[in-house]
Amino acid sequence: MSKDFIPAARPIIGEEERAAVDAVLASGMLAQGSEVAAFEQEFSAELLDGRHAVAVNSGTSGLHLGLLAAGIGPGDEVIVPSFTFAATANSVALTGATPVFADIEPQHYCLDPASVAAAVTDRTRAIMPVHLYGHPADLDALGALAAGRGLQLFEDAAQAHGASLNGRPAGTFGEFAMFSLYPTKNMTSGEGGMVSTADDAVARRLRLLRNQGMERQYENELVGFNARMTNLHAAIGRVQLRKLAGWTAARQANAAFLSAHLEGVATPSVAAGAVHVYHQYTIRVAAGERDRFAAALKDEYSIGSGVYYPVPNHRLPSFNRSIDLPHTESAAREVLSLPVHPSLDAEDLDRIVTAVNALAKAGA
Ligand SMILES: *Cc1c(COP(=O)(O)O)cnc(C)c1O
Repeated sequence: MSKDFIPAARPIIGEEERAAVDAVLASGMLAQGSEVAAFEQEFSAELLDGRHAVAVNSGTSGLHLGLLAAGIGPGDEVIVPSFTFAATANSVALTGATPVFADIEPQHYCLDPASVAAAVTDRTRAIMPVHLYGHPADLDALGALAAGRGLQLFEDAAQAHGASLNGRPAGTFGEFAMFSLYPTKNMTSGEGGMVSTADDAVARRLRLLRNQGMERQYENELVGFNARMTNLHAAIGRVQLRKLAGWTAARQANAAFLSAHLEGVATPSVAAGAVHVYHQYTIRVAAGERDRFAAALKDEYSIGSGVYYPVPNHRLPSFNRSIDLPHTESAAREVLSLPVHPSLDAEDLDRIVTAVNALAKAGA
């Protein structure tokens, strides 16, 4: 077919972003400065009910620094899902602590509180759920579990800008939370991350760790990193933040259309009280058929798709743990994410529905 390819994701960069970068270049103030400070304030007001927001050079840095600022280190265990991007567990391991993998619940692909409870040991210090695909994890149950066992709660909100649970924004439940600003995420700064916390002391440690342990120049208080965001990246992020609400609404409308019209595949479900921001729109295809299904979408219908994630973290060579996480394993075999990004038009959506329904009917 000669139809235009519909990509699985498409970062949207407009004239406003170009102009904002040009203005920073013209100013000569390229490194972390006033653009970063303004981005932090605006992100906090827009998405975090005024919590502290600390900008860093990647989401992964944000997780790493957040864990360090919260006091996680060697000898500690942090419970994480295995069904996520490797950065979740990597950041725990980089502090010297041990990531302990728990299973997901099969409806929303987020940490299952019962599996987390079973994984707690006397070394457990924290639980770090991931709001996978833009759907908030079961923060009420996980928060209650953490409080009951004296554990901290952290949030990997890399995919969940604007998501909420019972009216409360994702990223305002945990001791800290991290949002990624990588180009394929719901908004971008090129590369970047934003860490949120309500705790003044954690916020201060984050700011120190990001900048060589300095608040005042050459009075280094602790051993830190260069994890600063540049003014160039912040300028892009500020523009994108103003567009985020419209893009989120478009993602949600695209998802509603797909869910209303797809047949023969399992469509995403949304928990009561949850607002899903559809970083991914993820269906399930019968085990054993998923990869052929994805190949046929691409080859016969020119439609991109993605598998997030084909190999659970506990089976990656970097972790290689022999544990049994049945819901994680079946999700890794069956999930397929369809295009849901804001650039899709009505014709694209019709093409996706026609293709998926035909392939599902044919038992592709
Ligand atoms: C993207 C992502 C990260 C890492 O963010 P980067 O900005 O790419 O470093 C961490 N966790 C999850 C779940 C992600 O999707």
